[in-house]
Amino acid sequence: MGSLLALLDLQHIDTALLQLKHRLATLEERTNLSAATVLNNGFKKELIGVNAKLAAAKKDIETLEVANHKCEASIAKYAQQLKTIIAPREAEALQNEIAAATAERSANDDRELELLEVVEQFDRQQTELNNQIIKQDEIIQQATHALSVAIAQCEQSQVELDAKRTTISSSIEPKLIKLYDLKRNRRTTPAVADLHNTTCRSCHLDLSKVELAVLKKMPDGELPECPNCDCYLIV
Ligand SMILES: [Zn+2]
Repeated sequence: MGSLLALLDLQHIDTALLQLKHRLATLEERTNLSAATVLNNGFKKELIGVNAKLAAAKKDIETLEVANHKCEASIAKYAQQLKTIIAPREAEALQNEIAAATAERSANDDRELELLEVVEQFDRQQTELNNQIIKQDEIIQQATHALSVAIAQCEQSQVELDAKRTTISSSIEPKLIKLYDLKRNRRTTPAVADLHNTTCRSCHLDLSKVELAVLKKMPDGELPECPNCDCYLIV
């Protein structure tokens, strides 16, 4: 029975090691970091789009301004020519040219005003996104730190549990450890358990009085097993 009690300690360590492995694989800190990174990548992608639209709008404005300089130069040129022209038909043609250039300039001005509003709107979006990215970078930094702390805690627990396991293992007969390993590899529930009143702590099923009596009378050298789940049972 003494060796079974040591085996139970070993089982407790192995259960803790399994829980630790599960914890390490499903760390909330890792999920948080991943979510924060996805969010930030979204902001960065959006910013690239806004920057491109902003640059395009500014380029359109430059093009309109170049076109308007041309219009103004044409208007000035025609106005100058108009001063020296006497023939009414030629004068009319020049006046038509001036009217056309003036209309073009006016249309360009309207379009430029629209574009200036667009630029203002993209500028605001750009500022907002930049602020969000700065905030999100801080969140990511904190989440990265939190994750490394959590991983370090898990690693520390692992070292402690491994050390305990080595100590306990060395106090148990190798033959018994082999039996334990065989049983453990075939199941997901504990391979060694004790009773809570008449309930097996591995399968959580009750044992009858008769079953308990049989297990208690088992000769030395034989290992009692739960009639329900087959685990080694400390009775
Ligand atoms: Zn059981």
